[in-house]
Amino acid sequence: MVLKLIIPLFLVITFLSCEQKKDEQNMNENKDNFKYQTEQFADLGILRYKVPGFNELSLKEKKLVYYLYKAALSGRDIFYDQNYKHNLEIRRTLETIVNSFKGDRNTDDFKNFMIYTKRVWFSNGIHHHYSNQKFKPGFTKEYFIELIKNSDKQNLPLTNGESVDEFLERITPIIFDPGIAPVKVNLTPDQDLVKTSAVNFYEGVNEKEVENFYNKEKIKNDSTPVWYGLNSKLVKNNGKIEEKKWMLGRMYSSAIEKIIFWLEKAVTVAENDHQKATLNKLIDYYKTGDLKTWDEYNIMWTQDTSSSSDIVNGFIEVYNDPLGIKGSYESIVSIKDKEATKRIAAIAGQAQWFEDNSTIDKKFKKKNVVGISAKVITVVVECGDASPSTPIGINLPNSTWIRKEYGSKSVNLGNIVHSYNEAASGDGSLEEFAYSQEEVELGKKYGTLTDDLHTDMHEVIGHASGQILPGVGTPKETLKNYASTIEEARADLVSLYYLPDQKLIDIGIMPNKEAFKAEYNKYIRNGLLQQLRRIIPGDNIEESHMRNRLLVSKWAYEKGEKDNVIERKIKDGKTYFIINDYKKLRELFGQLLKEIQRITSEGDFNAAKKLIETYGVKVDSDLVKEVRERYAKLNISAYKGFINPILKPVYKNGEISDIIIEYPDDFTNEMLYYAKNYSFLPNNN
Ligand SMILES: [Zn+2]
Repeated sequence: MVLKLIIPLFLVITFLSCEQKKDEQNMNENKDNFKYQTEQFADLGILRYKVPGFNELSLKEKKLVYYLYKAALSGRDIFYDQNYKHNLEIRRTLETIVNSFKGDRNTDDFKNFMIYTKRVWFSNGIHHHYSNQKFKPGFTKEYFIELIKNSDKQNLPLTNGESVDEFLERITPIIFDPGIAPVKVNLTPDQDLVKTSAVNFYEGVNEKEVENFYNKEKIKNDSTPVWYGLNSKLVKNNGKIEEKKWMLGRMYSSAIEKIIFWLEKAVTVAENDHQKATLNKLIDYYKTGDLKTWDEYNIMWTQDTSSSSDIVNGFIEVYNDPLGIKGSYESIVSIKDKEATKRIAAIAGQAQWFEDNSTIDKKFKKKNVVGISAKVITVVVECGDASPSTPIGINLPNSTWIRKEYGSKSVNLGNIVHSYNEAASGDGSLEEFAYSQEEVELGKKYGTLTDDLHTDMHEVIGHASGQILPGVGTPKETLKNYASTIEEARADLVSLYYLPDQKLIDIGIMPNKEAFKAEYNKYIRNGLLQQLRRIIPGDNIEESHMRNRLLVSKWAYEKGEKDNVIERKIKDGKTYFIINDYKKLRELFGQLLKEIQRITSEGDFNAAKKLIETYGVKVDSDLVKEVRERYAKLNISAYKGFINPILKPVYKNGEISDIIIEYPDDFTNEMLYYAKNYSFLPNNN
């Protein structure tokens, strides 16, 4: 599983390791003069990220990362083709225009053409990466013809000696006719999902035929099944259904050849024997297409926890297939974030202390608690399904039996999250929803730091804390549909309770006694106000993470009302919530934690239901309207994607003597650079 930022309209950051979603990331001014957001168009914002630690790598480590980076980008075309079989020729047509159009580039038409082109790059195809709908160009067919006629014809993706006019006749309906391939992934029940989805995983077959084909392949009572059909396109030729495998010598071979070439280079500079063997296994898989080999690779990859560099590379996530069979190409190359890993170790090292000193009842405390060791990685490059729109957490492999027998790797993409935070710090939401200048300044000063700490505490201590009484089932069994809201609330509350604690200062992760207030302010502001922007006025809250935040904030607000712990204020017709008494608020969090742990430990369904239905579901629709209006004025783009850094080798006497990392700031240039250097597939595959 990969955690994409699922943000209809706003920024939600989700860590798969616990499915905690964070949002309204703060709020820290850019202290380093790095431009985190470069541009905004349509519903998209383009961000950049830095790779701290890269320059400190040894030459050998840099080479390894560089080869993995090359391997990652070599598969870029595959994902375009998987998304829709005409994507590569459309992309190349658009790129030809961008590179060579001789007419006026300052007209509205040309600007609209560029917006369309950038959306195609962002989505790796002509369908929206999130909504799956085909893009409607903001310019006419006639203008498109004019563009083509005034561009370099040699670089157009003409097939079999076709003339430009014939080419235009073929390609314009694909772009302009809303009836052709309207949806990338269709999930509407009662329709043939295979026939009605534009993805290029099937041809000439219907849903039933696909199901039958793979049901026949499956071995009965196999306790270690491969992921049938993961790495192939299923086609019907002359009435015969067969797989076109994505492997060396078959479909996508010319890109896979390059991937293998760079992986083989990486093997020569691998950090250790295990990593070497793992990379060799991946090469073997690309050469044979054998899914058993893929499983073996995944087991080895899961077991490699000591290497500092890592790569995710393959046909991995199946969300783009309406039937959840076929894997989309993606790659993520990373190095370990040593600082964050240290911080997490510091917290995990005190897990027993946190357990012993918590407000929960003694009989629910663990005698030997072990902190969950969440890992943080620093991304160097992403490609395919992971780029430009990126996950912020990864939990792999996907195979159920491997996860059960060998576990999985769950990582947070630290520098990506950091970049989101930094970009959001300038988006005006803090200024809009914080009541006072003092609150704004506190948020800017400590917001990012305390928010990271809150996440770490939530993950490492929160989820690890507490025990269920003997004989009581798991929360999923006892608390049913309320289980995940209760679990997330429990983890949040452990964190919130400890953030003001002297202990955090003593172990060196919290700077002083003031900083935690930034997170308290943010939590309340978000729970009672900011998160409401995701609700349609009149609706209740359904999503469990949102329910958790509302529950915690509203409960604390109501229980503290007589002491004015949290105060609702109106200024210039706008609603604010301010914290008057941080100490009392901490006590309230402790009280709620105690009760929520009891509910979990005893499996008290009725209490969970009552608590959540009373505090975590209903919202005032006028307030929802107000929040949405205030957000609309801020003009924050709904989806974000990233420009990757570029790695460049430096040669001395024919040998690589260093690898330089550069941070381009122009999305269009990077897309053209990729097209020029990593375009290995033919137009039609
Ligand atoms: Zn969680």
